[in-house]
Amino acid sequence: MTLKAISAPRLFDGNNYHHNCALVWQEDQIVSILPMSELPNEIEHQHFPNGIIAPGFIDIQVNGGGDVMFNNDITAQGMETICRAHRQHGTAYLLPTLISSTPQNIQAALNATEQAIAESVAGVLGVHLEGPWLNKDKKGAHDANLFYAPSSDQLEQFQWPTQGKVLVTAAVENIDSSALKWMKKHGIILSCGHSNAKAAQLTEEKLSLVDGFTHLFNAMSPFEGREPGVVGTALNTDHSWCSIITDGIHVHPQSFVLAHKAKPQGKLLIVTDAMATLGSKTNQFVLDGETIKVVDNKLVNSNGSLAGAHIGMDQSVANVIKWGIEEDEALRMASTYPAQAINCNDLGLLEPHFRAAATVLDDNYQTQAVVVDGYLYQ
Ligand SMILES: [Zn+2]
Repeated sequence: MTLKAISAPRLFDGNNYHHNCALVWQEDQIVSILPMSELPNEIEHQHFPNGIIAPGFIDIQVNGGGDVMFNNDITAQGMETICRAHRQHGTAYLLPTLISSTPQNIQAALNATEQAIAESVAGVLGVHLEGPWLNKDKKGAHDANLFYAPSSDQLEQFQWPTQGKVLVTAAVENIDSSALKWMKKHGIILSCGHSNAKAAQLTEEKLSLVDGFTHLFNAMSPFEGREPGVVGTALNTDHSWCSIITDGIHVHPQSFVLAHKAKPQGKLLIVTDAMATLGSKTNQFVLDGETIKVVDNKLVNSNGSLAGAHIGMDQSVANVIKWGIEEDEALRMASTYPAQAINCNDLGLLEPHFRAAATVLDDNYQTQAVVVDGYLYQ
């Protein structure tokens, strides 16, 4: 079996830094981190003369990329195109994310996930269903006509994938505890989002079922002195993670820094919420019959409402470092923490027996290469 390696002046394994070292792997598994001087001669080796090797970035909220919106191409091939586009921006793995759609399209997304994982499509970890189980008062760019509160029986009728992760974003205030429990029992990761809940509606029982909160601050009831809303509850619920969009447009840098202070370490993680325009030649796409365009780096619909982000993981990491977060923590927010959030126990660290997955950045945090399941893409 051939050993493969990449090296760079700096390597961050998720816990510690190594200097002038190489990441060595065989097939799709990490073997070791070795000083470059100790690399065996016969090894297939690529050296990057500048920058840093980090655990492969994982983005748990990706609506599209490379001119494909997952909602408009709900297939394993659509997922593949999206993953390829995001690799150019440092993302090794992602959850293709279906924006609120019909039950038929939800089933198509679940089938595409099953197929993509069976065919080992590089980068697909599962699927994220963002709705249609949302609150119409926080609909964002979703079509509120599609929203409903599912019963356990309705959930039972879908054919769920047998492999891969399923993340569901739901407005938990509208959904019966029995349906939320059904999700948990079936291994679904539950995130509260597009929610207008008052703090009192997020009962202890419901919160115990909530793994996370989707795109903190965006499309959720705000934090106020007399009413903590979803934002206050998200910040104050230690066992739950919060995902956050760090394009500097969706969330003010100060709000980001405050959230980072409030959450326990490991519970704030970066998502892009990227759309078809990332890694594409065009600057617009159609969602539910409506044209969405990039204007001044913002994605907006015809009313001027924000409709997803036009950013990759690499720039998202660069931004939070610029806002004062230490480099090691910023890198973990894009790799280690999202891996933990969706229970991927063999990703998020560069350690022996973990999956061979890495992101190589230059000194300005732009992507040089990505390793996915032992394949080097550059
Ligand atoms: Zn959303």
